[in-house]
Amino acid sequence: MLLIDTEACIGCGLCEDNCPFEAIHVVDGKAVVNDSCTLCGTCVDHCEVAALAIERDEGEAIDLAAWSGIWVFAEYRGGKVAQVTNELLGVGTELAAQRGVKLAAVLLCGQSGDVPQQLIAAGADIVYIVEDPALADFSDDAYGNALEDLARKYKPEVILAGATAIARSFIPRVATSLITGLTADCTNLAIGDDGHLHQTRPAFGGNIMATIICPKHRPQMATVRPMVMKANTPDPARQGEIIVETIAPVRLQSRARVVRTVFTEGEQLNLSEADVVVAGGRGLDTREGFKLVEELAALLDGAVGASRAAVDSGWVGYPHQVGQTGKTVASKLYVACGISGAIQHVIGMKSSEIIVAINRDPKATIFDVADYGVVGDLFEILPRVIEKIKERRS
Ligand SMILES: Cc1cc2nc3c(=O)[nH]c(=O)nc-3n(C[C@H](O)[C@H](O)[C@H](O)COP(=O)(O)OP(=O)(O)OC[C@H]3O[C@@H](n4cnc5c(N)ncnc54)[C@H](O)[C@@H]3O)c2cc1C
Repeated sequence: MLLIDTEACIGCGLCEDNCPFEAIHVVDGKAVVNDSCTLCGTCVDHCEVAALAIERDEGEAIDLAAWSGIWVFAEYRGGKVAQVTNELLGVGTELAAQRGVKLAAVLLCGQSGDVPQQLIAAGADIVYIVEDPALADFSDDAYGNALEDLARKYKPEVILAGATAIARSFIPRVATSLITGLTADCTNLAIGDDGHLHQTRPAFGGNIMATIICPKHRPQMATVRPMVMKANTPDPARQGEIIVETIAPVRLQSRARVVRTVFTEGEQLNLSEADVVVAGGRGLDTREGFKLVEELAALLDGAVGASRAAVDSGWVGYPHQVGQTGKTVASKLYVACGISGAIQHVIGMKSSEIIVAINRDPKATIFDVADYGVVGDLFEILPRVIEKIKERRS
């Protein structure tokens, strides 16, 4: 809690001026704190008469050395471990080696089957399992409480999760409950010379890359987009420790009840894992024009991607959007049709192995990241490419 020494307080208002949450005000010449206080400590740092202090109870005491180990939240849905979990175990292996600590996966589920062994094969040294019918369907409160309780018990220094709908939904509440920081949508993670986790992500509309640290709190928490990190090659012979945990039933109660699970277009689409992506942008002009992209994608057994301009125009659904506010892809072949190459788009596709760009503007920035560039009108080029492929197959 925030302690206010009313004798020392001179009512100068520096705390009020600097509080990011409007949580402290000067009333009758003395500072008064309200419920919006997050204990961020900004007011304490700005108080010139040392009238403010944060007092933490035992659970909140921050002894950095007491927190050790790298954790990955293992996302397990529809009978499968999410690919991003394997990618996090890949980067987690490097981070754990740099810190000289163990890498653990945390599996919350109804029934674990052989998943713990899969996680060990993918790089985990330890798998913490909580198996409970209450965790068979995802709910923010049950998953959040379970992860929080495990973190309080084992004190990992880092918790990583995929920037997926599930993790985005409950990881922030875990960070809030543990009174620590969370960096969302990281594109790079490394241990700095200071021993802290350096978490890099695009900021200010993707115009700069910001590296964020969490020096005073633990665990250091980050979500990472799918297809950004490299997974380890699975080794089925790897050995690891499996620790079965139970969580108090009251902590697994959820205010939500799952009535039915319906897979959305986005889940069926699997754009992030497609080998071939044919993406269209504003250059396709109309919904009718966009059909050329869909036809080429179908011929190449690929997925359809899109720029935000194409999605905003209503030619294709949001699950197809590639980029900063859409999906990240790392396909073997990415064909960008009528896409200018804005940074917010490029950030979501630049890891693709071979990038082909078709654009009538020779100066379009998409050509800066393309391996093959075709300058010309896509309404002439795409029908010819489609025809050629059909000819070869007939
Ligand atoms: C915070 C933020 C987040 C964003 N997130 C995303 C995101 O996730 N994904 C995303 O894509 N964008 C995103 N954007 C938008 C992004 O900045 C661009 O506006 C968008 O990517 C442009 O889409 P485009 O390339 O299809 O359209 P344009 O920039 O209009 O480019 C169209 C291109 O088509 C070419 N063209 C036109 N006609 C033809 C033709 N007949 N033949 C060949 N070429 C032709 C033109 O030369 C041009 O290069 C975001 C923006 C912000 C501010």
